[in-house]
Amino acid sequence: MRHSQTLIPTLKEVPADAEIASHKLLVRAGYIRQTAAGVYSFLPLGNRVLKHVEEIIREEMDRVGAVEMLMPALQPADLWKQSGRWYNFGAELMRVNDRHERQFALGATHEEVITKLIGDEVKSYKRLPLTVYQIQSKFRDEKRPRFGLLRGREFTMKDAYSFHQSTESLDDMYDKMFRAYSNIFRRCGLDFRAVIADSGAMGGKDTHEFMVLSEIGEDTIAYSDHSSFAANIEMAPVNNEYLQPNEEAKPLELIDTPGRYTMHDVAQYLDQPLANGMKSLLFKVDEEFVLVLSRGDHDINEVKLKNAYQATNVEMATEAEINEVLGANAGSVGPVHIDQIDVIADHAVRSIMNGYCGANQDDKHFINVCPDRDFKVNAYYDLRFIQEGDPSPDGQGTIQFARGIEVGHVFKLGNIYADKIGAGFLNEQGKQETMTMGCYGIGVSRTLAAIVEQFHDEDGIVWPKAIAPYDLHLLTMNPKHQDQFELSESLYQQLQQKRFSVLYDDRKERPGVKFADSDLIGLPVRLTVGKRAQEGYVECKVRATGEQFDIHISELDEKLT
Ligand code: ATP
Ligand code: MG
Ligand code: MG
Ligand code: MG
Repeated sequence: MRHSQTLIPTLKEVPADAEIASHKLLVRAGYIRQTAAGVYSFLPLGNRVLKHVEEIIREEMDRVGAVEMLMPALQPADLWKQSGRWYNFGAELMRVNDRHERQFALGATHEEVITKLIGDEVKSYKRLPLTVYQIQSKFRDEKRPRFGLLRGREFTMKDAYSFHQSTESLDDMYDKMFRAYSNIFRRCGLDFRAVIADSGAMGGKDTHEFMVLSEIGEDTIAYSDHSSFAANIEMAPVNNEYLQPNEEAKPLELIDTPGRYTMHDVAQYLDQPLANGMKSLLFKVDEEFVLVLSRGDHDINEVKLKNAYQATNVEMATEAEINEVLGANAGSVGPVHIDQIDVIADHAVRSIMNGYCGANQDDKHFINVCPDRDFKVNAYYDLRFIQEGDPSPDGQGTIQFARGIEVGHVFKLGNIYADKIGAGFLNEQGKQETMTMGCYGIGVSRTLAAIVEQFHDEDGIVWPKAIAPYDLHLLTMNPKHQDQFELSESLYQQLQQKRFSVLYDDRKERPGVKFADSDLIGLPVRLTVGKRAQEGYVECKVRATGEQFDIHISELDEKLT
């Protein structure tokens, strides 16, 4: 590609709103431009790198037998109401009305659409398992869109969904996806870790995030210095904007013996219905108390009381308040004590309800242990209380902290969506069963930014080979010199015939400008046609190492491959 024919608007100045390297550099090097807060256009170079990441993803998805399709971004509200997420996704879900005042959501993710589709089209065990994926724009009205491509409001995601007749089949695909994700991020050149994650608003059980290690990452990873244990310490979304703590509160009666609880105790509390029919559980974590309220298997919520000793004058919430806090889950939870709620989460409780629950491991931390499952899966919940230097949860080494950028996320959803949306199949015996699902996301545009975070220096981007927009940057020092001009033109043709992709800076700019732009743009190898053109020599610079040497054009082939 000739520089003069494409659009690479490089900037000398750092954009005022850019705080981090990837944002600054992708704008300065002419890869992206902001169209609105958290909404970006990909210019020709940006589009090329995005496509390179997508190609790696496609290859690895195809390899595990996932098949590509494309779903609409515009989705009927009814589907989101069916899953309940119309009510509990919150303001992040972009909502629009059509001319008939019918409600729609702009796809923040596609569980609803795909579950409905597969439920309608697949009726027999013979068609399972089935895994589909798409690469598509997602919309989320993030509270704080920032950091350029890292947290956008419109961004590119690869999302895959798998459908199974058994949990064994799901486990199998989950493992394959886990390996595919590792391959993808390794091929992108990234230094990353797979960590145990919080299943948050998505629901589901086993879940891992893929974290690119970076100081500017918004997540904190707790990992062991002596084993492969690594987990995100993030808490579930805090939803307390309208809830004020009651300063004058007195002890809540239910807690008569704060302190250690064994699994046996936990089970007993779970069996103790409250007056209104809810099951409840209260236990101590450090100086804080956690109250669990639930009824039914899936729709369970945890309510954390900031300080149980201040937690009296507790009033029953009104139906409307409950709906606002708990969204669609409210129906099966029933009235809750709402006065001092400050965190709503359902994942931790789900693990308790499922029977793999916890006890105080020491005086300090409450850790979920699960007797008959992989311990790590449930450990994440209490990691929010963990400190650097603590013993780690799998008994090996001590806890260290690192910052990470979440680039991928894999979930075992189970049958939460299939149940709600209605995706069933006939098994071998002709009996109706509910499908079991997994979902697997990668932030494609975020991955791109994460790569720049790990691959840059003070002069610009330093692309890993697999992602770079072009293989080679061909520069002419002075295109007015006939020798230089002719050699550049013929090299441009020859290199492309040899299947190199080439960005050819044919502009009539000063060499200094071209060199600076070249470092900024960050292609792996720069070839400069200059003073020694007549002898057939060009200067070669390796962007990553800064290594610079003259090379005869007859040796280029060998040197470049
Ligand atoms: P985060 O915790 O950063 O808000 P998430 O957990 O909400 O991300 P998921 O629902 O797991 O995101 O979506 C799958 C992937 O999509 C994430 O792992 C991330 O790489 C990407 N992603 C999510 N939100 C954004 C965003 N606002 N901008 C760019 N990429 C995003
Ligand atoms: Mg999010
Ligand atoms: Mg997350
Ligand atoms: Mg996530």
